[in-house]
Amino acid sequence: MRIKAQFGMVMNLDKCIGCHTCSITCNNTWTNRPGAEYMWWNNVETKPGIGYPKEWENQDLRKGGWVLRDGKLELRAGGRVNKLLNIFYNPDITPIDDYYEPWTYDYETLINSPEKQHQPVARPKSQLTGEYMELTWGPNWEDDLAGVHETGKRDPNVRGIEEKVKFEFEQTFMMYLPRICEHCLNPPCVSSCPSGAIYKRDEDGIVLVDQEACRSWRFCMTGCPYKKVYFNWKTHKAEKCTFCFPRIEAGLPTVCSETCVGRLRYIGLVFYDLDKVEAAASVTDEKQLYRAHLDVFLNPNDPEVIAAARQAGYSEDWIEAAQRSPVYKLAVEQQIALPLHPEYRTLPMVWYIPPLSPMMGAFEGTADVIHPHVMFPAIDQMRIPIEYLANLLTAGDTEVIRTVLKKMVAMRSYMRAVNLGKEPDVSVLERVG
Ligand code: SF4
Ligand code: SF4
Repeated sequence: MRIKAQFGMVMNLDKCIGCHTCSITCNNTWTNRPGAEYMWWNNVETKPGIGYPKEWENQDLRKGGWVLRDGKLELRAGGRVNKLLNIFYNPDITPIDDYYEPWTYDYETLINSPEKQHQPVARPKSQLTGEYMELTWGPNWEDDLAGVHETGKRDPNVRGIEEKVKFEFEQTFMMYLPRICEHCLNPPCVSSCPSGAIYKRDEDGIVLVDQEACRSWRFCMTGCPYKKVYFNWKTHKAEKCTFCFPRIEAGLPTVCSETCVGRLRYIGLVFYDLDKVEAAASVTDEKQLYRAHLDVFLNPNDPEVIAAARQAGYSEDWIEAAQRSPVYKLAVEQQIALPLHPEYRTLPMVWYIPPLSPMMGAFEGTADVIHPHVMFPAIDQMRIPIEYLANLLTAGDTEVIRTVLKKMVAMRSYMRAVNLGKEPDVSVLERVG
């Protein structure tokens, strides 16, 4: 066993209200400077949606991450051959238009407008050129568009707006997905950099860019399947989320965690076995990737792991931090947090608790809508389709999502009883399965 420590984050999507406070406070702290206007190291996407940058999840388009070819794991882009072929030109780079052209508003007109019949309008102005612009795109542009859960069977007799209400609006769903760099255990941004400028910190796994060593190749941008490396047009260096390492070193949480309105971000240290990383990233059956990732983590309460951690030089404080880690508890012990797109094979370290959404049509005539007797059989009728969550978090394994949602239902039911001063029904917990 080669033991390593890693910082990770769990976000409870049930609690995200899409307020973007995390993005703004991150921006004010880290990217509020020339050359970084278009960067959102933390962004919040409305899902289903095309995301930021546009269609980042479309790996055929974006050519990011790893693929399994003939049983061998290869970088989709930024690999050795690609590096040689594209040495002066990287055709897989995401163009700036897919991020958006940063803009501000013409506040002067708004403030200095003379009195008129109609309210003055502050037109958008490019922050790069200073010109007025016709906006067609921006991060989270699709905020109010959402998707449609096509469960209802269409009735040929229902037409027009009535049809829209019955079969589209009533079944509309959306959720928020806050995203930062995943500080992956198997980071392709690191392995695709020809200059060795991106590195994974030995002590805590935080992935950083050495600004002195960066030579502007931008293969990290291509290699990252989550599209979380950005290019500063002024300094000509790559930049990315630093997991607020100066704050972490001072014992403080990341800015996004501290300022999160929903209090949904949990930070923690985990120990993992470096010898298992390659095998976990190379599992052929995509649906086993989540399990293989889980298998990489080490139990910080196991005496053998504690001894290995001491031998590797980790202090008692770090061992204690790993034992108290909410990330370990939520992801590994309770198994209610799941990795984002495990099929990218980078072993990401920001995990998500899937959101519980209302059960469509399951509540009629039922007084206790939270009770598991109602909720368990209705899990498949959730407003957010299980298949959609599985596509995001388990490479399509709907069973894992079902189990997690049942645990969430059981927990809610239990806590509701406790908060109402009633006797909780513990049999609910046993029935999660
Ligand atoms: Fe690198 Fe972060 Fe992208 Fe993972 S998510 S590949 S660590 S930039
Ligand atoms: Fe969601 Fe918290 Fe960010 Fe608000 S601050 S958008 S609640 S993650």
